[in-house]
Amino acid sequence: MRQLLRKIRATGRVAEPPPERPDAEMPDKARELGGSVQIRHVDAGSCNGCEVEIASAFGPVYDAERYGARLVASPRHADALVVTGPVTRNMRMALRRTYEAVPEPRLVVALGDCARNCGVFAEAYGVEGAVSDVVPVDVEVPGCPPAPEAIVAALRGLTGR
Ligand code: SF4
Repeated sequence: MRQLLRKIRATGRVAEPPPERPDAEMPDKARELGGSVQIRHVDAGSCNGCEVEIASAFGPVYDAERYGARLVASPRHADALVVTGPVTRNMRMALRRTYEAVPEPRLVVALGDCARNCGVFAEAYGVEGAVSDVVPVDVEVPGCPPAPEAIVAALRGLTGR
């Protein structure tokens, strides 16, 4: 135990300094959340690139939780959905039902170019459309994939921290 504590003291903080808060106005619904946001992630048809960056954003280096954002296991425990990928036909109904399971006021973040406008999968045979074609979107995070700094900045825009 002492050895572990010594190692922790010697290592110090590894988290990146806080990224800039986005200039964009915080959505009105986010103001009701009081500085914390519980997030359910939905992969609606992603290539998994965006998921790798989400994992980094919540890892020890970028540490999105320090700004009040937390991933949860159920939409019923969530304030917001973070949706990645274009919405495939197989995921359209699942996304819609997941959205309806989130209590009001619910927010939707379309994360990555595929979520915003289908990106490289535009007009692919199994693609239904962008996230905004299936559920209302409050925040968009551009990039293919968005960098962890951009993800953390967008989440800070929801928590205001
Ligand atoms: S935006 Fe890029 S990284 Fe994200 S799901 Fe689409 S192709 Fe993959």
